[in-house]
Amino acid sequence: MRAIVIHAAKDLRIEERPAETPGPGQLRLRLATGGVCGSDLHYYNHGGFGAVRLKEPMILGHEVSAYVEEPGASGFRPGQLVAVSPSRPCGACKFCLDGLPNQCLNMRFYGSAMPFPHIQGAFRETLVADASQCVDAEGLTPGEAAMAEPLAVTLHATRRAGEMLGKRVLVTGCGPIGVLAILAARRAGAAEIVATDLSDFTLGLARKLGADRVINSAAEPEALAVYGADKGHFDVLYECTGVASALAGGIGALRPRGVILQLGLGGDMTLPMMAITAKELELRGSFRFHSEFAVGVRLMQQGLIDVRPLITHSVALNEAETAFRLASDRSQAMKAQIVFSA
Ligand SMILES: [Zn+2]
Ligand SMILES: [Zn+2]
Repeated sequence: MRAIVIHAAKDLRIEERPAETPGPGQLRLRLATGGVCGSDLHYYNHGGFGAVRLKEPMILGHEVSAYVEEPGASGFRPGQLVAVSPSRPCGACKFCLDGLPNQCLNMRFYGSAMPFPHIQGAFRETLVADASQCVDAEGLTPGEAAMAEPLAVTLHATRRAGEMLGKRVLVTGCGPIGVLAILAARRAGAAEIVATDLSDFTLGLARKLGADRVINSAAEPEALAVYGADKGHFDVLYECTGVASALAGGIGALRPRGVILQLGLGGDMTLPMMAITAKELELRGSFRFHSEFAVGVRLMQQGLIDVRPLITHSVALNEAETAFRLASDRSQAMKAQIVFSA
């Protein structure tokens, strides 16, 4: 079977790899679609992010849908479309036992160079997965099913936010996570959503997908500052850039006791601690997800969240590198996906 393997920055290869054999409770899957994620792009463009560096070749990918080939567990049938969760907590460490599987000490999340040996990813023609990772995706397109992973990231953040009904929400950064955060916040009852970015293309999609107002921070650098009058306007900030200036701008626009959800991973950054302290803001990290994966699939199946407009490009496996180049270009791409099989 072929797999998409990153060797170093800009050294992406399609290679033959041996197919794995399913064990008890595992399914053999034929990959349908894989979405290129920000973290895949970091490996492709820079060979890693922060302290996380590629030390050996690694199969990329963690946003995938697949067809069941060999159902090794009850509830599955050949040909069935499933969304495959890349989250594989151990189920036995202190955080798993404490109900925090996304904080698992032995997490084997697909396509991650955080541990060494690296955890190989899911961009491969055949994949063996635990039944517990596979969620029935009947009624969805393979592309939609492959969006379950980034959607779950934003559902987890929304859960971290607490009560959302009637809240005023600011989203900084309108890549796929920012735009999915808009969908998630709206579904959870947000009353007003304002989104910022530097790209008119992604802002256009943010507007189309439900933002009440979008601000191009490059073209209108003062527009967000207006919301900072009288101690601020927004109750919740989804910070999706990982850029210190975006976080600082968002903090300025938050009202007292507002909640910051930090989703963007930009390494260590300087914080306006004075404003955080004096406005009694809460800074909450948000990292990956677990149970929210199946919730996201269900919301899409029920038509309560529509992610289809985010999928701007899909390319064949042979042209996988094109998907990585496209996904890096925010002036024309939101989510680029690779089609492994139809
Ligand atoms: Zn992702
Ligand atoms: Zn664990």
